[in-house]
Amino acid sequence: MLNVPPQAFPAPSSQQRAAAGGRAKVPLKPGRSLMDWIRLTKSGKDMTGLKGRLIEVTEDELAKHNKKEDCWICIRGFVYNVTPYMEYHPGGEDELMKAAGTDGTDLFDQVHRWVNYESMLKECLVGRMAVKPIAAPKEITSVCEEKKQLNGMLPEKKVLSGASKDLTPSYDWFQTDSLITIVIYTKQKDMNAELVILDHEDKRLRGEIIVDDYSYLLEVDLDHAVEEDMAVNIAEKVGKVEIILKKKDNVHWKILGQPLESHNTFMKRTDRGTEVVKPYTPVLPFLPLDFKEPSCHDSAHIYLMIKIYSCGLFTQALDHLQIGDCISVSNPEGSFKKSQVQTSEDLFLLAAGTGFTPMVKLLNFALTEVSCLRTVKLIFFNRTEDDILWRNQLEQLALKDQRFEIQFILSQPKKDWVGKQGMISSSLLSEFVKRSRKDSKVLICICGPTPFTEQGVQYLKDLGYSQEEVHPFTA
Ligand code: NAP
Repeated sequence: MLNVPPQAFPAPSSQQRAAAGGRAKVPLKPGRSLMDWIRLTKSGKDMTGLKGRLIEVTEDELAKHNKKEDCWICIRGFVYNVTPYMEYHPGGEDELMKAAGTDGTDLFDQVHRWVNYESMLKECLVGRMAVKPIAAPKEITSVCEEKKQLNGMLPEKKVLSGASKDLTPSYDWFQTDSLITIVIYTKQKDMNAELVILDHEDKRLRGEIIVDDYSYLLEVDLDHAVEEDMAVNIAEKVGKVEIILKKKDNVHWKILGQPLESHNTFMKRTDRGTEVVKPYTPVLPFLPLDFKEPSCHDSAHIYLMIKIYSCGLFTQALDHLQIGDCISVSNPEGSFKKSQVQTSEDLFLLAAGTGFTPMVKLLNFALTEVSCLRTVKLIFFNRTEDDILWRNQLEQLALKDQRFEIQFILSQPKKDWVGKQGMISSSLLSEFVKRSRKDSKVLICICGPTPFTEQGVQYLKDLGYSQEEVHPFTA
């Protein structure tokens, strides 16, 4: 193995020449040329004895395979069973045996580091070297570094919590002529694709793996350009994630890339400055109480009504923004059409909690611009009285506009609540959602927690409302 001819080496038949490294070659038996080797590797023969399975190899295990009839060698973190290659090695069996059962990377590099051994020994790949366990960090916040003897293949690790040390994932990478494969060992059973978030722009690669409340991040400025499409393979039961990148130029990469700031860190998700996207429906600064100025739209401001959840990832970060901080805002999304309201006679709005937000502009539009509407009714579900958003404005609006009616329904009211109590149900909807005339055109809009919206849609269907008459707002 250690004297494999380089790619530019003359034809396999001229094996008696000296190798570029200056080492003498040995005569090979007939039928043991490079072409013969290639033919053998393509024959489908099980070259590793593992029936195509890849395993993690400990140093102890590697050391056991140190005989001519059972010889494993490690190169750049990957272990090959070179036993079948022995007789094909132009430098002879003894040369190859110098690295038997050990890490032969240095020896290999001294002789011919330019040789494309990954391709030559592809079928002999046994697996990768197992990562050594890291010593437990003494302090809660610490950075442990581990440098192994495998030619820098194993990265340094940042362990940010003593409690999470056993879970700390690790990564490794290898390459073929055309592919770069990054392997992440998450040490998490039941890994699945939803827990892997990949982002790639130009040469910058960001891969986040969610492990319970923690997040493991790979963030690298890649050594060379890669194609846009990448693949992810997940071995769910062992928690192994493979990210496969396609090289743009089939060059040999010396390193995976330059690590970026948060590269190879494992920390609580809430501590990570990660990108989170949330849809919100813009509202108005107030309800249309003053009809002299029906339009409170201005093109310079967007008003959002956002509930800050005490354990929320996004809303907590939002709540801590300072004046001058920036957030990105996407283009608008959604399928609601104003024409649905313009042709209606009865408008029913079923809102739960912050599901009230899409109703704000709808109310404004309906009451100020749609003259054919006879009734507009908001049925507003909340837990407690304190949770009712804009209660005062809504009550004032009901006093001002005869067409508008408001009904508050609380699921967890205090004892002194005299209003309606309950959760969304068929009987409650049949009580409050009624056509003003037998055949009047009706539109029912519904928004709230997903189960609330789904149940509401089902109840309305059961009550005989058609799909066109019901518009659920779903995020
Ligand atoms: P919340 O205070 O937790 O709940 C509001 C009301 O909804 C309460 O009466 C609550 O009753 C009821 N409710 C909650 N879960 C329910 C369920 N599974 N079945 C029946 N009723 C249920 O609401 P919130 O914290 O403001 O959350 C509002 C939700 O609306 C969020 O999930 C938000 O994402 C969503 N939203 C969606 C849009 C959109 O455009 N798609 C816009 C705004 C808001 P209980 O006391 O029984 O829980």
